[in-house]
Amino acid sequence: MALSADGWMLPVVDEDGEGFWEGTLAGELRMQACGSCGAMRFPPRPMCPRCQSTERLWQRVSGQATLWSFVVAHPPLLPAYAAIAPYPVVVVSLVEDPRLRLVGNVLDTPDGPINQVDPATLRIGEPLGVVFAPMVGQDGTEIAVPRWLRSSPVNGS
Ligand SMILES: [Zn+2]
Repeated sequence: MALSADGWMLPVVDEDGEGFWEGTLAGELRMQACGSCGAMRFPPRPMCPRCQSTERLWQRVSGQATLWSFVVAHPPLLPAYAAIAPYPVVVVSLVEDPRLRLVGNVLDTPDGPINQVDPATLRIGEPLGVVFAPMVGQDGTEIAVPRWLRSSPVNGS
């Protein structure tokens, strides 16, 4: 597990997920799609679960989603997270295909803290839109993490 200089967890970028993280850094949410049947899948992996093809490409999606589920994080947590707990951790379902689900944090403002939204106000099914939070690793590597904004404009606008 990699941590930022201020103690936040950073995603581990592997070969399967490279296209996803290149997208977030460019301000785009991209799903891996099958190069044969076109089915999108998440998380990224080498083979299409529908047709077993290993052909793959990256497809930009709208970044519009709905709240599918959430939990409220409480300590024990890593120190940076414990300091701001409790906060909601959400699972969102993309509008392009509700089976495409991502785990993340929900915000009221694009660059707000991850404890900004009172979990008691969350409603399953409420609309959310992606935003990208820039983070820097201890080695200086830049990455952008998708987060979910209430009443967001369309991806990339
Ligand atoms: Zn396929």
